[in-house]
Formats: sequence, C-alpha cells, structure tokens
Amino acid sequence: MAERTGRSNRVAIVGAGPAGLFAAEHLASLGHSVTVYERMPSPARKFLMAGRGGLNLTHSENLETFLSRYHDPEGVIGCAVRAFPPSALIAWANGLGAETFAGSSGRVFPKAMKASPLLRAWLRRLDGLGVVLKTGWTWHGFGKCPTHLLFDTPQGAQTVTAGAVLLALGGASWPRLGSDGAWVAILKQAGVAIAPLSPSNCGISAPWSPHMAKHAGSPLKRIAVTCGQHTRKGEAVITRAGLEGGAVYALSGAIRAALEGGPALIHLDLRPDLSLEDLTRRIAAAPSKSTWINLLRKAAGLSPGAAAIVREAGAIPRAAPELAARIKNAQVRVSGLAGLERAISTAGGIKAESVDNRLMLKTLPGVFVAGEMLDFDAPTGGYLLQAAFASGRTAAEGIGIWLEAGKAAPGLPG
Ligand SMILES: Cc1cc2nc3c(=O)[nH]c(=O)nc-3n(C[C@H](O)[C@H](O)[C@H](O)COP(=O)(O)OP(=O)(O)OC[C@H]3O[C@@H](n4cnc5c(N)ncnc54)[C@H](O)[C@@H]3O)c2cc1C
Repeated sequence: MAERTGRSNRVAIVGAGPAGLFAAEHLASLGHSVTVYERMPSPARKFLMAGRGGLNLTHSENLETFLSRYHDPEGVIGCAVRAFPPSALIAWANGLGAETFAGSSGRVFPKAMKASPLLRAWLRRLDGLGVVLKTGWTWHGFGKCPTHLLFDTPQGAQTVTAGAVLLALGGASWPRLGSDGAWVAILKQAGVAIAPLSPSNCGISAPWSPHMAKHAGSPLKRIAVTCGQHTRKGEAVITRAGLEGGAVYALSGAIRAALEGGPALIHLDLRPDLSLEDLTRRIAAAPSKSTWINLLRKAAGLSPGAAAIVREAGAIPRAAPELAARIKNAQVRVSGLAGLERAISTAGGIKAESVDNRLMLKTLPGVFVAGEMLDFDAPTGGYLLQAAFASGRTAAEGIGIWLEAGKAAPGLPG
C-alpha cells in the first residue's frame, strides 16, 4: 500500500487480522493517518484460513439470540456487537462486492464461499484510503511511553511513536498463522489483567483402544453430544486422538469446565432421530442370529464409525433394550481438549476490568485493544468474526475520540 504524508494524528495498528484491518478502515475514512504493522509476510492469514470452511462471517438469527451466544452478552463484546450488528457486517461485505447468503442453519457466508476475493477488495479499499501496511514487523514491547512501540523488522530493530495505538494481535490458536499469544507476558507486566489463554471450539482427546485407529477420519453424522447439562446436535469426526467437529466444538466450554475435576465424560446419542422405544423395536425385530455388527449396522442403521463408538464404550449388550440404550447414550472418556495449535479460537484474554468502554487499556493510556485478545468465548457460527469486526470498530471509534480530545502526543516519525 502506498505511504502518504501530511495527514493528521498518526495511528499505529499492530496486527492485520479482521479486527486490526477493520479499525484501520474506519480511522482512515475519518481522515487519520494509519499504519498497520503485521509480523507475517502477508495480512489476515487466519481470515483466509477461515475462508477454507466457506467463511462463516456472521449469523442471520435475531440480535438478542445472537448476543446470547456470548458468555457475557452485556459485556464489552456484547456492547460492541450491539453497536455494529450482523446486519452492518453483511452490508459491509456486500459493499465490497462479496454478496452474502444465509445457509439453512442461518449461518451467513459470502456466495464465493471463500475469503480471498473479499480480502483482495478490502485491501484495495484500504490502499485507496491511504492505509500503510508494513509486513514482517513484529511488535515486542513498549519503549519510553505506552504509545512508543518496539519492533523487530527485516531491517533490524525499529521504534514507532504514535498518537494512539491499537493492539489487535489475536488469540493463540493456530500460531503458525501469526497470532501466538506472546503479548500476554508484555501486557501482564504493564498491569493488564489477563485470563489464561486456552483452546476453544476445539476437538477432544480420548484414550481410544488400538482398534479405533482404523476409524480415524470416519464421520459421525446427525448425532447429539452431551456434557453435563449441555447437549449439542451436529456432526463429529473420529480422529486418532479423539473427536473433532462442530457438535464437539460447541461443547468445548462445558468440557473444559468438566475437565477441571480430572478426566471427563461425554455421551453420544448416535440416533437422536429415534426414540429409545423405536430403536429397541427395530433391534428386537432383527433376525435372532444377527451378529452384533449386523445389529448395529442394519437394524440400528449406524455408520461404521458410530458402530465403533458403541463397541468402544464396552462389551456389546445382546438384549435389544440395553443395546438401544447404549446407542442412545454411548459414553466417551475425555482426557483433555485438543491443543491450541489446532483450536478454532482462544478462550481467555484481556479481562473486561482492564479496559474502558471504548476498549482502551486502563493502565496504558492511548493503547486500545480489539478482537480475539479480549476475554470472550463463543461457539462457531460467525460469532467469532462478528466479535473481531465489532470490537475493531469500537476501538477505532475510541481512538477517534481520544485523538479528537487532543489527549494524544503528536505522532512522530517511525
Ligand atoms: C481454521 C479456522 C477457521 C475459522 N473459521 C471461522 C469462521 O468460519 N467464522 C468465524 O466467525 N470465525 C472463524 N475462525 C476464527 C476467526 O478467524 C478469528 O476469531 C479471527 O480471525 C480473529 O481476528 P483477530 O483480528 O482478533 O485476530 P487474528 O485474525 O488472529 O489476527 C491477528 C494478527 O496479528 C498478527 N500479530 C500477532 N502478534 C503480532 C506481533 N507481535 N507483531 C505484529 N503482528 C502480530 C498476526 O500475525 C495476525 O495477522 C476460524 C479460525 C480458524 C483457525
């Protein structure tokens, strides 16, 4: 992007994910001089990765239901989403030529079902607004004041002094895409309260017996998964280490809580579409000499993966009521959550008590934060990207107000 000079109030944004880029767009459109610093060789790598799954931008359900998906709907993320709701994000995407549609589940995707055309159009718009993007710049701390930033760059160590700073460094999931949570130590030292980062929307580890290895990759379609009081219908996939997939991801908060007391249990209903009585009748009607595999596959209609789960849960009961009960309540022992390196998102982060209502850090005047760095958790379904965009917008508005109020020192050349 072309560097422009002679504009007012220099803003430094660190992190070129959706939160940082969206803040950059808003501030540049208000006439501020904005530079985005990104450690990776190119921007928005996680956003592009999200595009591989179709880029679930947001959700079409009504706003109150949408807000209820966040653990604290009245908290900072809830307020940000109220101010920049799903309809506004959809209008923004449409404005960049990425027409959206709502799938049968209500999830909203660009029709292209990928992120790259939207990102290309977005970067062109940012360029037109004069936003400067510096890649290969890794922020590693503060200098003589909170808005004095220290970077490692391809040209060696550099410092930047800005009128205001936005840190939009992401969480710690999929660190190879750029966000690795290294900011936690730096901000803790600056007195910011941070809840420990942990994997969310992630798979589980299960101590499978050796015969499960041959079922790795087998889908479990239209199942219901229960952990404690929480049940989610959806799909899962058997992996060598345990289970992945939407129905399991949605329960990761409940499973994390259950694991605090040691290994946890989840229960799989492998035929949630059938009542226990109907399933029992079907199994009882099978030929009396049926093998257990025929009972599971033909009478109960289970896939090979689902049959393996029933077998993994213990010796196969021969009586129809017990077998039906097992199919509708197959127990899986959970030894842990899958690691951050493959989690869709990060739970934990900067606690609400550390920011004001415009997302400025209370202990670091002039430094704002946005996106997955904040302490919130939400399921998949577009709630994560919506939160990143909305909090980027709130922080940008906060920076605009901060700069207008003249509290900022004039920007110095980096
Ligand atoms: C596989 C996958 C699929 C997903 N699919 C969806 C989906 O369909 N819908 C949805 O809502 N969400 C999805 N998400 C989650 C969503 O992508 C994230 O919540 C979102 O990208 C967070 O935005 P962010 O701007 O806060 O952080 P990020 O997108 O992580 O951006 C942070 C940026 O900061 C940079 N950075 C970090 N540290 C430094 C540093 N020290 N110096 C300079 N730069 C730094 C990083 O390189 C990165 O570019 C998915 C995530 C994954 C991993």
